[in-house]
Amino acid sequence: MSRRTEKLINLDKQYLWHPFTQMKQWLASEQVVIESGQGFYLIDTEGNRYIDGVSSLWCNVHGHRVKKIDDAIKSQLDKISHSTLLGLAQTKSIELAEKLIAIAPKNLKKVFYSDSGATSVEIALKIAYQYYRNKEQKRDKFIALRQSYHGDTIGSVSVGGIELFHSIFKPMLFDVFFAPTPFPYRFNGTAEQCKQFSLDKIEELLKENPENIAAVIVEPLVQGAAGIIVHPKDFLKGVRRLTKKYGVLLIADEVATGFGRTGKMFACENEQVEPDIMCLAKGITGGYLPLAATLTTQEIFDAFLGEPAEFKTFYHGHTYTGNALACAAAIASLELFEENKIIELLPAKINLIAEYLKKISLLDFIGDVRQCGLMAGVEIVKDKKTKKPFDYEKMIGAKVCAAMRPKGALMRPLSDVIVLMPPVAIDSDTLQKLLDIVYDTIKNDLPKIVK
Ligand SMILES: *Cc1c(COP(=O)(O)O)cnc(C)c1O
Repeated sequence: MSRRTEKLINLDKQYLWHPFTQMKQWLASEQVVIESGQGFYLIDTEGNRYIDGVSSLWCNVHGHRVKKIDDAIKSQLDKISHSTLLGLAQTKSIELAEKLIAIAPKNLKKVFYSDSGATSVEIALKIAYQYYRNKEQKRDKFIALRQSYHGDTIGSVSVGGIELFHSIFKPMLFDVFFAPTPFPYRFNGTAEQCKQFSLDKIEELLKENPENIAAVIVEPLVQGAAGIIVHPKDFLKGVRRLTKKYGVLLIADEVATGFGRTGKMFACENEQVEPDIMCLAKGITGGYLPLAATLTTQEIFDAFLGEPAEFKTFYHGHTYTGNALACAAAIASLELFEENKIIELLPAKINLIAEYLKKISLLDFIGDVRQCGLMAGVEIVKDKKTKKPFDYEKMIGAKVCAAMRPKGALMRPLSDVIVLMPPVAIDSDTLQKLLDIVYDTIKNDLPKIVK
């Protein structure tokens, strides 16, 4: 290792506190310092190249240093980087909003910007709540799915259900009704029964609380952070039917699933569902800059119209709302979707992943493989028959991913689920290389790691 890298690592350990990271372990271990990127590769300070196997935490779409996005940001930089949307309009935020509404489910008509997935969810929850207040109804409860993940701010954690991340904060959270996750692998019955079990519970909650539920919030099709849990077919459609039947809003958190991840531009399209509110972030700028958007229907927007003294205004905003550089990157990214036929080229890559998953599922210690488009999870278990997991302290998933690094892939697991989340525009050759590394590591390294 060069002296420069050594020095950087020491400074990192001296000054930084990393997210979702046990810092005691971090401080005691070797680290990779990324200095640049090129296409679908990340390059460290030693010049090592790694495939960006989880899209820099699920947000990269077209790769790194994509000329068109780079140029769009540079060109915007020569005009202005940021001006506020509070009381002022701004060119790029207007252009992007028009483009988002053009590709979103048809009923969505308005764009409220913010800067992260968590804020897009906070905004969705507050809009749903105030929508009913403005209509003189006090609906202050939400229904969410167990094991869901909607971000790390207090509101989004309140509707989240991942014990490992969220349980410590319980006393700080507001009350939410939880329905069971439709997770076929851990359900005793068929996928259809699994779907119905969860839908029945949601219906029960809606029936028992006819006057105080504002919205049902779901990650459409895939619960990403829970371990790439893929819902049974038509579950989302079922939730949409129930929310319509009981007159409550449906919030679709497309932060992870949006922008091509599931094989369509948005996951909701797969089941022809039009949510009342949709949350977008991660891939919105192609993975370049922090930006998020909460989309709503005209009806919701209209409920906030009134004279100042009627107090129907939505008093919410963030300083960097609608940042011009981020919007310029997002516009370029959306143009690339068309120019490069990103969605049209997905089926071949989705099939390639499916082929590998089939082979991987036959290997020792692999309990389940799950896939929805370019989101895939490989669940490692101690016992294939009983589905019993390894002890958490063994950190099997983390060790498997660490074994992929010297082979040229940077991956990050969710507990013992190996997550495959390559950039949406990845070329088939690089994807195959990544899949070969994953297969090889699970076949040859995993048996040694679990010993
Ligand atoms: C990542 C994620 C979020 C949070 O987004 P941040 O930008 O990290 O705040 C919210 N919802 C889902 C479904 C996510 O996967």
